[in-house]
Amino acid sequence: MPMNRARHVYLPVVMAVSGLLLFGVFRGLHHQESFTYSRVLMGTVVEITLREDSPELADTAFREMERLTALFSTYREDSELSRINSTAGRPVKVSPEVAELVGLALKVCRLTDGAFDPTVGSVVRFWNFGPGGRIPPEDELKKALSSVGCQNIVLDRDSGRVTLSRKGVSLDPGGIAKGYIVDRALEVLKKRGVRWVIINAGGDVAFYSASPSERFRIGIRHPDIEGRLLGILVVKSGAVATSGDYERYFIRDGVRYHHIIDPRTGLPARGLRSVTIVSGKAYLADALATAVFVMGKERGLKLVEDLDGVEAVVVDEDMRIYTSSGLKDAFTPVEE
Ligand code: AMP
Ligand code: MG
Repeated sequence: MPMNRARHVYLPVVMAVSGLLLFGVFRGLHHQESFTYSRVLMGTVVEITLREDSPELADTAFREMERLTALFSTYREDSELSRINSTAGRPVKVSPEVAELVGLALKVCRLTDGAFDPTVGSVVRFWNFGPGGRIPPEDELKKALSSVGCQNIVLDRDSGRVTLSRKGVSLDPGGIAKGYIVDRALEVLKKRGVRWVIINAGGDVAFYSASPSERFRIGIRHPDIEGRLLGILVVKSGAVATSGDYERYFIRDGVRYHHIIDPRTGLPARGLRSVTIVSGKAYLADALATAVFVMGKERGLKLVEDLDGVEAVVVDEDMRIYTSSGLKDAFTPVEE
């Protein structure tokens, strides 16, 4: 895989990658030198920024991400996730990372009362959010919806087996896998002694500094205008992820059909334009961004307030911005 290298002598570093759901602005407090390495992975451009010029270190993280992508991708027929789906009804022995990912997805499914539900895959596959678009007919949706529900996933941690209850049930890790992979890449780098790093996987971002006083500035993308910021978050080591209706969508008769599906209806969730979650872990930020989008402003923000170490910025259909109580001083809207 080719790897590009960019040298930034002065920060702020501004990263703008097409397709980003989050447009990041990062600034080290002391304007230190940094080095950014990028690779196309998980359908996006992943950037790793270090304080040292070490393509070898970046490569270690990229290779871990590639390894995990090969396990999780439902675009690859030979991935373990695809095997779970094609073997629905029977147990499938999986790698520890797949078991962990499924376990975390089940945890968030319970936590969000099913607003985050990886079995939404049975519905998602009937939609096509690409150009042209496809709205599944009602009877198709109804049938697909009967296969949705986390009770259809059985994870046996002891034997490392995953069983989908029956044919038709389909796991879609799209709302959590990227975050999980970013977490794992960060772990690899921390184990190698890295003391400062930002990993940006197309809007799922993890950042770490060995110095607890360090703050990172993360820009949130404007839902309608690529390249424009909605606001800036100033946060300590952790992760930020955004889910928005502008990532994958088509417009039919003036209505936007996008890729975040309400598991109760099988239809795109309505009411919000984007949700950004701040959390200690990228997998949780990723999955909760999807879930809060489905739950809507009131229920979603209530859940966020109830969770320790989780904050949110929510944008509704009228472009009004709401933040959870812990972000009062940490989020600054960008004036137009
Ligand atoms: P994200 O961009 O993280 O919000 O993830 C969106 C992706 O997650 C979609 O493309 C689907 O593959 C999947 N997805 C859509 N709706 C849901 C949902 N309610 N729960 C879990 N995954 C979902
Ligand atoms: Mg998500």
